[in-house]
Order: sequence, then structure tokens, then C-alpha cells
Amino acid sequence: MNTPSVRVAQVALPVPLPQAFDYLPPSEQALPPVGSRVLVPFGRRQLVGVVLNHGPTTTPLKKLKAIDKVLDEALLGEDVLALHAWASRYYAYPVGEAVELLLPPALRRAKPFRSALPKAYQLTQAGRDADAGRAHAQRRCLEWLAAGPVAREALIEGGVQPATIKTLVDKGWVEQTERCPVVKLTPGPTLNVEQRGAVEAIAKGIDRFGVHLLAGTTGSGKTEVYLQLAKQVLDNQGQVLIMAPEIGLSPQLIRRVEARLGVRAFVYHSEMSASERLACWQAARSGQAAVVIGTRSAVFLSFHALGLIVVDEEHDASFKQIDGARYHGRDLAVWRAKHLNVPIVLGSATPSLESLNNVNEGRYQQHTLTQRASDAPQPRWCIIDQRGEHEGLSDELLVKIEHHLSQGQQVLLYRNRRGFAPVMMCQACGWQADCHRCSAHMTLHQSQSRLQCHHCGHQTAPPPRCPSCQDPNLIPLGAGTERLESVLGERFPDHPIHRVDRDVMTGRHDFEALLAQVKTGGPCILVGTQMLAKGHHLPKVTLAAVLDVDQALFSSDFRAPERLGQAVFQVAGRAGRVVDAAQPRAEFVLQTRHPEHPLLAQLQQGDYIGFAKALLTERVQAGLPPAQALVLLRAEAHQSEAAVTFLQLAGQCLAEAGLDVQGPIPAIMAKRGGYWRYQSWVQAPTRAQLIDGVSQHWTALYALPAAKTVRWHVDVDPTEL
Ligand code: ADP
Ligand code: ZN
Ligand code: ZN
Repeated sequence: MNTPSVRVAQVALPVPLPQAFDYLPPSEQALPPVGSRVLVPFGRRQLVGVVLNHGPTTTPLKKLKAIDKVLDEALLGEDVLALHAWASRYYAYPVGEAVELLLPPALRRAKPFRSALPKAYQLTQAGRDADAGRAHAQRRCLEWLAAGPVAREALIEGGVQPATIKTLVDKGWVEQTERCPVVKLTPGPTLNVEQRGAVEAIAKGIDRFGVHLLAGTTGSGKTEVYLQLAKQVLDNQGQVLIMAPEIGLSPQLIRRVEARLGVRAFVYHSEMSASERLACWQAARSGQAAVVIGTRSAVFLSFHALGLIVVDEEHDASFKQIDGARYHGRDLAVWRAKHLNVPIVLGSATPSLESLNNVNEGRYQQHTLTQRASDAPQPRWCIIDQRGEHEGLSDELLVKIEHHLSQGQQVLLYRNRRGFAPVMMCQACGWQADCHRCSAHMTLHQSQSRLQCHHCGHQTAPPPRCPSCQDPNLIPLGAGTERLESVLGERFPDHPIHRVDRDVMTGRHDFEALLAQVKTGGPCILVGTQMLAKGHHLPKVTLAAVLDVDQALFSSDFRAPERLGQAVFQVAGRAGRVVDAAQPRAEFVLQTRHPEHPLLAQLQQGDYIGFAKALLTERVQAGLPPAQALVLLRAEAHQSEAAVTFLQLAGQCLAEAGLDVQGPIPAIMAKRGGYWRYQSWVQAPTRAQLIDGVSQHWTALYALPAAKTVRWHVDVDPTEL
């Protein structure tokens, strides 16, 4: 029997089921408000959940259970709950993900929420008039606070003793405050004409929603534009959220934001400790944090008065979460800005085709910075044919490296492959060392004497002879960063070679320390992966090179040319950042075995936007994203038949709902970690039809018996194939 008159709390729980669960209020109590954290019985467990809604229930009364305990009332506001409700529908993920997405780890446990706001201090009126006489320590502290509130930890780091703070508080000269702590303000450079134009155009709409694509070549001063806009928002008591890729979220950036805005920046990313994340979450929610800098997950933070969102390096793939709730942080940030009616700035030297398409269709407004802020010219481009070389470096490039080093300059070489060699091969029979769990070669890591699979982590010792023909001559093919480092070391013994990849830069601070050293140091060579390509300002680098582009030229992923273009322009942007008559003309080199490839000719024009627009035209013609929305239905299983069967049945369900389903076909990497991977492409004439169709029907797939035999998920706007 239904009990329509009973109202229940619909609770999000961290379980792998698509729906929310209905609970009665705790006995004798009213329903806890929407946004409350509750503790509920679930099977034989007790779980922490979030109240998403109140409503009638279809569950028979005697089956309904009551909430055990309300942990805290209305912890989450309307704004983030609305964001989550929209996102879970759009991205087709279980509403239970609310617990993971909206709460910092510390609040996913069954403990009531206790304020952990970082302490800050300010002067009282008495403190302003006070004279500490000869008590130097007290006087210093008073002088420091005269400029405004300062965080306790900053005072202590700056040499103020806890006892001194206590004395000043006891005297009534200093008090604790919730206001945002200030830091020393350092004025930025005077903006150039283009920067000013962008700031003025965006500032006209500073009080309302608008999406601004700031397309500015590397080093054109985009960050200064963000900061000027942020300043205006802070002056009006608003908060600013700056989102950046994991790799870009450097201490350098944090310090720069703090210095320009004169406030402490709160940082939010998944590598922080639970207590640090809680502190940031809370400071954003209370308004104490004037500025938050975070990775994609920061889009779900609660704010008191968010007034501006900035997404730096908006094209970066790391904004898309690729497991669990597969949301896109940039796109959710746009939704949130719209919901809150505040402006959002998406910045990049190499904007995504998605954003350029939105500009074309009139949804986003583009602002362009064409000049480097330093007035330095762009480097001269050169494509080098690398056929005939065996260790990753052509003679022509070696000569150039020699030249730049001899002029006292630094060289940056980009190779997106760590390890010694990406393939180990038998010269006699052609056998190659492959991972038995993945459709991939094992990478040789020579210094550790290991073969490693970079996809599933599997490791073995390199075999002493060919397992197939017993020939002892196994040779490493191709060059990863480890091999390049050793080749360069032999060739340039008098110059430091710095390798930058995840194998050597294990701590966040290793890289930061190296950058500081390189900035002030003499001639040297930096050789590394992705980490090197991003946003760093290295004034002495006059030669930059991308060492191998060939894999991207022939990839079957339709996004490969776009990604290649982005990497190439980002790396090129590292060379010749400053005007210095004593420096040789900056150069950028691209090595390839296919110098005749038409994509390279397009790249060589040196105009990313032109290149991207040409790619966009091709995507339109091919009916690919962003011209046509795409959803992937993926399944993986130890037996490929199971994955295929599930996708066929699931595809039928969606096809009956009027969607166009193609597949199943194997993923580009057909096997990973022992699982066979398949996918079906789901499309519809319009994005709205696609999203409606998928959101209405995907939960039905849980009911398919075949769903229990595979790992499956829906990926809306996928970034990987
Ligand atoms: P982007 O974010 O576009 O890569 P940045 O904002 O980091 O560029 O600026 C690159 C460098 O140029 C930085 O060292 C910055 O301090 C400097 N810079 C930015 N704008 C100006 C300007 N108007 N005048 C002088 N230097 C500037
Ligand atoms: Zn062999
Ligand atoms: Zn593997």
C-alpha cells in the first residue's frame, strides 16, 4: 500500500545505486532541512548522507526507516545542491555522489561539524592607540597588524611567539577575527593596451553572468587580467574562485595571487590533508576566504558571496573527471556562474574547440591578447626530420642545443614519455615486451632495471634473452626522458641536465625548488614531460623543442590533433619570454619522422587560433564534438563477450528511447588491467534531445541482468576514447 501523505527526506548515500533513499525523520522530530547531514541505517550499516529533498514516498510505511541522527542542519546551501542536481542529471551519475562531491573528506564521517576556521588576528581600537614601549616583540606584532588582519600561522611563521600573541590578546590590544587575513600587497605591472581592453570589456559585466574567453598567447599577461578583475570583486566584498589544472596549481601562482590581491588565498585540491580541505571548505562557506584557488573539485565548494570564477588553462584535460562522477569542472563552473548570475573568465593560450565553438555560436565572448606582455617576439619555428636518429635527438637539434648553451642560455626539451625506452624488442625475431594485462608495450626503466606498464602498473625484470627465439640481443627502441637525460649527459658533460617527470620529481616541492634554481642559474638543459609544458616563466630559456609528435599524428582519437596543437604551442611559448638584446633569437623545434604531414604545415603557421578553427571545421563536417554532442556508453569485463552483450542490450534500451547508438566497438586501448574494454557511441540530433534521452533512461540499465557481469558507465562529453 502506498502512503502518499507521508513526507520523507530523500537522502543521498555513498552507494553504487542511481537513486536517493527515503527516510522518515528521527522519532518525534520534524524532517531535517534540505542540505543537512544525517546518519541513517542502510542494510546492516550506518551511513552519512545528505538530505537532497523532501517529498512524498512510494515506499510502504512499514518498510520505511527513520533517520538515526541529524548531524548538522542545512550545512549545504541551495546553490551547490542545485549544481549537483543539475550535474547528476546532465552527466548521468548517481545522486549519491553528493556525499563525495559536496563534502570535504572530514565531513563524510559521522561526527558533528566543528568549526576549524583558521585563526586570524586584528588590532582592537585600544591596540591601535597602544604603545608597546620597549617590548620589541609586541611592538613588531602590533605594527604588522596595523595593516589589517593576519593569519595566526603567518604571524608564527614570521617569528611572532605564541606567547606574544597571548599577551596582546590579554591586554585587549589584539583580538581574533573571522575576516580574511591580509598579506603584504605588491602592485602588479601597468597593464598594456590589450590587457586594459580585456579588463574593461569584462568589467562592464562584472555584476552579472557572462562567459568570457580570454584567448591570450603564452606570456601575454592573462593572469594579470584575472587579478585586476578579482580585485574589483574583492573591493565589493565578493569572493573569487580561481580554478587551475593540478599541474598549474603551483606555490608560484598562489604567492602571486596573494601578493597582488593582498589577501591570503585558500587552496583546495585532493592532495591536501583532510584538515586542510576542511579549513578551506569552511573558509569559502563562511566568507573568510576572499580567494580560493583549486582544482576541478573546487567547483563544488560552498561560498558565501561568490562574485567571479576564473578557469585558467581552460583547455586542460584534467578538468574532466575520468572516473566516478564524470563531470567537467570548467563546464560546471559555467553553469554555476549562470545560476549565481556572476561572470566567469576562461583563460588559455590554446583554447579548447568547445570554447571556440561557443564563441562562434554567440554564447561566449572572446577577448584576445596577441602580444607577449614583455614585448618579446615569438620564437622562430623549425621542423626537423628525425628519420635516421636512434636515441631521440637529431644532429640538427644537437647543434642548436650546443649553440644556445654556448651563448649562456637554457634549453627546454619536451618528451611526453617517461622511462628509458617505450619499447623493448628482439632484433632477431621482432618480439616486443608487452603487458599481458593491457594492449600496450612495457616501458623499460633502465636505472631500476624494470619493465613497467604505464597503464596498469604491472612490473617485471627485463628478460635476459628473447622469450620467443632465445636470442640475447634485446634492444631498447625509442627514447623516453630517462634515456634522453643520459644521451644529453654524454653529449654535454659540462652542463647540468635536469630531468622533470614523475619518476624523479616525487614531491610537489622538488619541481618548485628546481624551477627556482634554474631561474637564477646558468646554462642548462631541462628535459621532461607534461610538467614542463605548463605556465612556467623561465626567462633564460631561448630554445624549446617537442621531441616526438608522430604518435599524435596518426592517433585514432579525434581529439589527438587538438591536443598535439595545444602541447606544441604551450612548449613553444616557453622560449624567449623576455626581451634581452644579449640573447640569441629564440627558437622552437619540432622533431618528426613525417615532416610532410599536413597538420605540421598548419601548426607551422604559428597561429593556434587559426589552426583550431580549421580543426573545428573538420569536426563540424564529421559530426563530431563539439559540433555534435556525444555520450559514450562503456563496459569492461574479463571476458570480452560479457562487455559486448551488455552494450548490445543497453544500446537497445537507448535506441528504443529514440537515441542513435553506434557500436559496440573496442576502445582505443582494447584491454587494460586485464579488462576488455568496449564502447558504444550515443548521439541525437540536438544536445538537449541527447541529454534528455540519456538522463531519462540510463538508470534503467542498472536493472539489466547483464549489468551485474561487467563494469560499466555512461560518459557524457567524453574526453577520452
Ligand atoms: P600568462 O598568464 O598569459 O601566461 P602572465 O600573466 O603570467 O601571462 O605574464 C607573463 C609575465 O609577464 C609575468 O612575469 C608577468 O609578471 C609579466 N607581465 C604581465 N603583464 C605585464 C605588463 N603589462 N607589463 C609588464 N610585464 C607584464
Ligand atoms: Zn626473438
Ligand atoms: Zn598493463
